[in-house]
Amino acid sequence: MNVVSVKDLSYSYEGAHGKRPVLNSVQLEVAAGEIVILCGPSGSGKTTLLTLIGGLRTASSGSVNVCGMELCCSDKQDLLEARRKIGFIFQASNLLPYLTVKQNVRLALELDEAMSENEIEQRVNEILTAVGLSARINSYPEGLSGGQKQRVAVARALVRRPKLVLADEPTASLDSKSGRDVVTLMHHMAKEQGTAIVLVTHDNRILDVADRIVEMEDGRISQVSAAGSKVELVLSA
Ligand code: ADP
Ligand code: MG
Repeated sequence: MNVVSVKDLSYSYEGAHGKRPVLNSVQLEVAAGEIVILCGPSGSGKTTLLTLIGGLRTASSGSVNVCGMELCCSDKQDLLEARRKIGFIFQASNLLPYLTVKQNVRLALELDEAMSENEIEQRVNEILTAVGLSARINSYPEGLSGGQKQRVAVARALVRRPKLVLADEPTASLDSKSGRDVVTLMHHMAKEQGTAIVLVTHDNRILDVADRIVEMEDGRISQVSAAGSKVELVLSA
């Protein structure tokens, strides 16, 4: 079964001048363990699509199915439940400045009543080691580089072992080495834990982690390619 299945999805924003269509009959399927990169010009609807898949807003036309749950027209409770299965990573790491690295990551698990204190400790230590931050667990965000902060954000998104990770330009504020580290980490997660990942990016340097590259234009999917062919395209351009 696909982790994400989007069918005939259309979406409009209500503005001062009436409805403004932003997504037009979008189809997208993402399987477990698959990394799909969404690219395309600014304003083409990438973030809107990601927030609809993430249950952060709802559409009234078409279907968005995530982990077997239909999100279109669903109520707040269902959306909340779906969001719990998803890890979100944004362009800014959005860490809480008054909590340490470890506390920031713990927060993602502390709401889960089924987990024991031992289990939480173990998971948090494990993921922070995996992202290469075991030496910085007691640091505060202000003491970290941009790349380190974003790795904490990745750890926070992944510590719950979500079935799906949605990342919106996670490397946009990073230098090329840090950006590479962050996507390599996401790649490992996808392949080792079968996590499905949808990653929005403008960053041509990371296209090779994708299994599939989906290009958007004016609220439509304009092109789908296997990763290799797209990288060649970019290199020869
Ligand atoms: P992308 O992420 O590809 O740059 P977005 O999904 O953010 O594109 O935006 C797609 C279009 O929707 C743009 O034209 C943008 O101006 C518009 N848009 C985005 N968010 C809103 C909003 N909250 N209200 C009205 N229009 C919006
Ligand atoms: Mg965007």
